[in-house]
Amino acid sequence: MINNKVYVFNAALKHRKGIWRRIEIKDDQTLGDLDSIMRQAFNHDDYHLGEFFSGRVWKSESLGEIESDGSGAGAKKKIDELKLVEGNTIEYVYDFGDDIQHVIKLERIVDTVAGAKYPRVTSKNKIRNRYCVSCKKIQKKTIATWICIDCSEEEQKQVLLCEDCLGEEHEDHYGEELLL
Ligand SMILES: [Zn+2]
Ligand SMILES: [Zn+2]
Repeated sequence: MINNKVYVFNAALKHRKGIWRRIEIKDDQTLGDLDSIMRQAFNHDDYHLGEFFSGRVWKSESLGEIESDGSGAGAKKKIDELKLVEGNTIEYVYDFGDDIQHVIKLERIVDTVAGAKYPRVTSKNKIRNRYCVSCKKIQKKTIATWICIDCSEEEQKQVLLCEDCLGEEHEDHYGEELLL
């Protein structure tokens, strides 16, 4: 009988550490499986390459690329082949153009739970409401769901907006939906 273990990872955006997901995956599952749950957990569109690294993205050994269809050099590598111990981190980059980097830390190794489907997301950061900066100017509190990338770059701070304000006042700008 094979006694599978479950790796409990904390995966966080490298440049927005408040955004994290706890991900559980079995030791005989693969980096392809981990890539697929990372894409879901962080709402990444599904068209780009992902790549895992043994340490820092681009600065350490590549564990192989993974295509959007789940194939690729790293896809079949099993989680237990990574020889991780609790506290170790690997990193993941999604979309070599946008270069969205994630730090994935092994929190602990536990037993499988009967009936559970792996990989799975078991928890995530609390959602901290942030408000639209345009609405704020007219004393309205509206939850921001977008970031204007053009204005954020120009003002050197995050310009967060509600959907209406993004559409009305920033229609020629590049906006991205906020990951919460
Ligand atoms: Zn607004
Ligand atoms: Zn703008």
